[in-house]
Amino acid sequence: MGLQNRLQLVEQRLEQACARSGRRREDVRVIAVTKYVTARTAEAVVREGVTHIGENRWPDAKAKWESLGNEAIFHYIGSLQTNKAKDVIGKFDYIHSLDRISLAEAIQKRAQALDLKVCCLLQVNVSGEHSKHGLAPEEVKPFLEELRKYDRVKPVGLMTMAPYESEPEATRPVFRALRLLRDDLNESAALSEPLTELSMGMSNDFEVAVEEGATWVRLGTVLVGKEEIEEG
Ligand SMILES: *Cc1c(COP(=O)(O)O)cnc(C)c1O
Repeated sequence: MGLQNRLQLVEQRLEQACARSGRRREDVRVIAVTKYVTARTAEAVVREGVTHIGENRWPDAKAKWESLGNEAIFHYIGSLQTNKAKDVIGKFDYIHSLDRISLAEAIQKRAQALDLKVCCLLQVNVSGEHSKHGLAPEEVKPFLEELRKYDRVKPVGLMTMAPYESEPEATRPVFRALRLLRDDLNESAALSEPLTELSMGMSNDFEVAVEEGATWVRLGTVLVGKEEIEEG
């Protein structure tokens, strides 16, 4: 299936998921995850009007950023090593994987040097799988309190990855728990601004995530496909 067909199909499925759950389509935004494809394909995706690009490693993202940095908004969705923060801060508009204070410190330092603020989503390990990064749900509130020291780090929402399930419906409790956690934090944590974003849902489970309140879905395979990549 070609790119345009995949985009159309995803659009239909998003509209249907919004309709089923009484949500407005414009409240759900798509991040095209281009980690499996070349810069050329990423350029085609942006030309088709999907202007948010997600990548999880700087070496793979570099060529895409150099080509599309002025046209697209870049989202860093992978786990970020503290000593790599300097590579991506200033280039990526959103960091979806903030999960420890040492990383906040590294982001703060780099953001200060560049005189900017960085929008961050706190990655939460809702399912408790050992293989997954992220804060435990009960750690998020104290983490947010500690984050107040870092004025260049602007928390805007929460991110999670659900375990892969052959039956996507099985992911619903994970997504629902993330939404309830966000709502609870907005009521109880002393935040200067509410957390508005929920980054959740991938190729296999995005419709369930939308039904549960996702504001960002991160779509790789289903939207941009996978290619044999030969370039660095
Ligand atoms: C790779 C990746 C995605 C996209 O994966 P697909 O299943 O191909 O849609 C989304 N989020 C994160 C954090 C990823 O690493």
